[in-house]
Order: sequence, then structure tokens, then C-alpha cells
Amino acid sequence: MIDTALQSTFDEVLRRNPGEPEFHQAVREVFESLEVVQARHPEYSDAGIITRLCEPERQIIFRVPWVDDHGQVQVNRGFRVEYNSALGPYKGGLRFHRSVNLGIVKFLGFEQIFKNSLTGLPIGGGKGGSDFDPHGRSDGEVMRFCQSFMTELWRHIGEYTDVPAGDIGVGAREIGFLFGQYKRLTNRYEGGVLTGKGLDWGGSLVRKEATGYGAAIFADEMLRARGTGVEGRRVSVSGSGNVAIYAIQKVRQLGGIPVTASDSSGYVVDEDGIDLELLQQIKEVERGRIGEYEERRGGRARFVADGSVWDVPVGIALPCATQNELDADAARTLLGNGVEAVSEGANMPSTPEAVALFREAGIAFGPGKAANAGGVATSALEMQQNASRDTWTFEYTEERLTQIMRSIHTTCLETAEEFDRPGDYVLGANVAGFRKVADAMMAFGVV
Ligand code: NDP
Repeated sequence: MIDTALQSTFDEVLRRNPGEPEFHQAVREVFESLEVVQARHPEYSDAGIITRLCEPERQIIFRVPWVDDHGQVQVNRGFRVEYNSALGPYKGGLRFHRSVNLGIVKFLGFEQIFKNSLTGLPIGGGKGGSDFDPHGRSDGEVMRFCQSFMTELWRHIGEYTDVPAGDIGVGAREIGFLFGQYKRLTNRYEGGVLTGKGLDWGGSLVRKEATGYGAAIFADEMLRARGTGVEGRRVSVSGSGNVAIYAIQKVRQLGGIPVTASDSSGYVVDEDGIDLELLQQIKEVERGRIGEYEERRGGRARFVADGSVWDVPVGIALPCATQNELDADAARTLLGNGVEAVSEGANMPSTPEAVALFREAGIAFGPGKAANAGGVATSALEMQQNASRDTWTFEYTEERLTQIMRSIHTTCLETAEEFDRPGDYVLGANVAGFRKVADAMMAFGVV
């Protein structure tokens, strides 16, 4: 439910942004938490903060032409939405996936504003990407695509302006090609312009692990607040990319048993706990499909092509693949099987109906903008290291990440308490993220 004043702003968002259901969903979800803030802080409405927040500061759409291995010209569409720079340079990943369109980039950019605010670090919100699909493409094709993409993007980014990173389909290989082209075009070794870089050329230890680690740590913090923890619990993880792999690793370190992994072809269940080395070999090294895990695990794992990874009975669920991957039916199944915590490694993986069911049931539900903020937080730590021409140890960087996740957890809980909704991490994350951005926007006047 949203109140009358917010409803008319939301109606205006629908009217001005037709055909963008994921963006509408993300805005609505934040609006549902803002009613309590409106009541206590009418000055935000008077200054038009919420209306201004719904409109990105800048949206860039461009053609990305490139030549495939057969000499054929291919054309993709590139996007960068520079959403809000109240707290610092625009910051957010690039997604390469066939589903990418303006509405998806706007939903991700909108979420990013509040997430980045929650980290307590000086970063604004942005997001970008392309409908390019790297699956099945050779390294040469990916390189030519990335070079063409950066040939337009370079003029819009910079370490004080806009700092992209990875997301779905964009890992160390793609960041390398993008950075190489940026360096060539600008004749500047400006390490702080991209994060997720390789360790030999300006990257930070723990960046690759950070999002998955953070989501598992957040689950542990939520359960600790209720007197338990991840230890000894069965955990289902969806996805088998960057976030999922390192969520699995951290679950193991915390004493939990990660029993699933998936990709768009299906999921595997391994009752002994996912063999991380094998998963990394198949997904990170060979870029293979998840079904190969069953074949190479010697009969100890089961591959399911049709069905839902959420059918597997677990105490903790970590959705780490993509938006709207966990619907109401999946939520009912998880709750029926006694799930105690859901911590979102992916962005908006639970549908609004699923979120409502989790909140009604009173389980510990960590929304993505809090639970997966460890990735962008460690990107900001990478920027700090680049600015000071320093490199930190794994232990120190991981300690910083852990502290940031704990602090986000505490901020969410305290804010929820302040607004008489104890234990409501959705409200806590939205309100705490919003307030900092809103206060900065108030200070800057109408810009
Ligand atoms: P990757 O590309 O490394 O992995 C994505 C994984 O999700 C793959 O296993 C992929 O399978 C699966 N997947 C993607 N789309 C679908 C789909 N439509 N249906 C089923 N499976 C799908 O991406 P990341 O791990 O980096 O990102 C995962 C999620 O985490 C995204 O929501 C992203 O926005 C979010 N996130 C990522 C951060 C980061 O630091 N990387 C930071 C914060 C959030 P397949 O290969 O078959 O497509």
C-alpha cells in the first residue's frame, strides 16, 4: 500500500516510463517504505525529493557495432544510466545479457542509489550494460564487443564522474578489455575509473568474493540477532556465477552446508555440500553448464533440468542469480519446508508477492540492497586503494567488508525500530538509504 500523495507520484512514474515493469516494481517497493518518512519529514516532499529521485540525472543509449568471428557485422545497444550523484560519483555495474533494456538498467540504477548510501561510503548510484550475450562467444568476439562499447562509454565516465564495475556477464575478462580500451583512448592510467580489475593492474583483493561473502554474512547477522546463525544449517544457493560461487564459499566457512547451485539450464543438489573447486572449474575456468557437475561428481549429486531450486528443503535461501527468480509459489514451498532466513545476493530476486509472504511469516528477510551491498562497498575500497596507490591485504580488506556488512545490518535494524517496525529489514534498508541521499539533495538545492 502507498498513500495518496505517493500514489500520484507513482502514477506519474508509470505514465512517464511506459513498458518498464522492473523499474516500476523497484520504485513501488521503495515507495511502500516511504510513507512513514513522509509523515515525519514533510520537508522532503516540499523540496520534491521523491519526484526528483525517480528521474535519472542522465540516461545514455548508444549503438555498439562490432564484427564477429565470421566477419559479420553485429549491432548491440549500450546503456549507462547515471542515476543519482548526491553522495559521490555514479557507481554501479555493467550487465551484458540478452534481456538488458532501458527499464532493467533503470531498476538496477534506482536500487543502487539506496544500496550505495547504506554502505556509508561516498558513492552515488548508476548502472549500465548491453543486450550483448557473451554465452558461446569467443574471447576475440568478447574483446571486440568490449572495445566498441568503451569507444562510446569512455567520454561519459571518470574516477570523479562515473565508475562502472561488473554484473551479470561482466567479470574480470570483460573489465580487462574495457579498461584496456579506456586506457588507449584517453592515454591515462586512471585505475579508479573501473572496479573489479585484475589484481596485477589495480584490482582489490576480496572484490571478486565480496558480494557473495556479504550475502552470507548478512544471513548470519540476521540469524545471530535471533540467537542462532548459519552454522549447521542447510543452505540453497541459486546461480553459479560470481555472487553464487563466493556465497557458497562463505557459507562453508561459517559452518553451513550449501546444497545447491544453478544456472539457466537447471539446478544441482549435492547433499554432501557443493564441491566448490569442481564448481569453479566448470563455471569459472571452462565456462560450462551446471549439468556437468552431476557427471563429474561421481553419482553424489543430482541434476534437475525442470523445476525450481527452491523446492529443496533448507533452513536458509540465498537467491544469487537474477531478478524475479523466486516467486510466491517458491516462497510458499520454502516456508512450508521451514526456511528461517532469506538473504538476497541478486538484485530484486524475490517477486513482491514472495517478499510479502516472507514478511508476513516473520522470517529473517534481507533485501538485496542491504544483503548484496558488500560488492559495491568493496568496489569503493578498491577506489580508495587506487587513489592512495596502495594495496591492502586479503585479511584487512575482508575485515573491512565484514564490518561494513555488520554496520548495514545494524543500521537496518535500528531504523526499523525507530519507525516502529522491529525486524523489518526492507523498511530499515529503504528508509536509511533514502534519508542520507535526501538530506544531501536538500543541502544542494534544486539541481
Ligand atoms: P554472473 O553472470 O557471474 O552469474 C549469473 C548467474 O545467474 C549465472 O549462473 C546465470 O546462469 C544465472 N542467471 C542469470 N540470468 C538467469 C536467468 N534469467 N534464469 C536463470 N539463471 C540466470 O552474475 P553475478 O553473479 O555477478 O550476478 C548475479 C546477481 O547478483 C545479479 O542479480 C546481479 O545484479 C547481482 N549483483 C552482482 C554483484 C556483483 O558484484 N557481481 C553486486 C551486487 C549484485 P546462465 O549462465 O545460465 O545465464
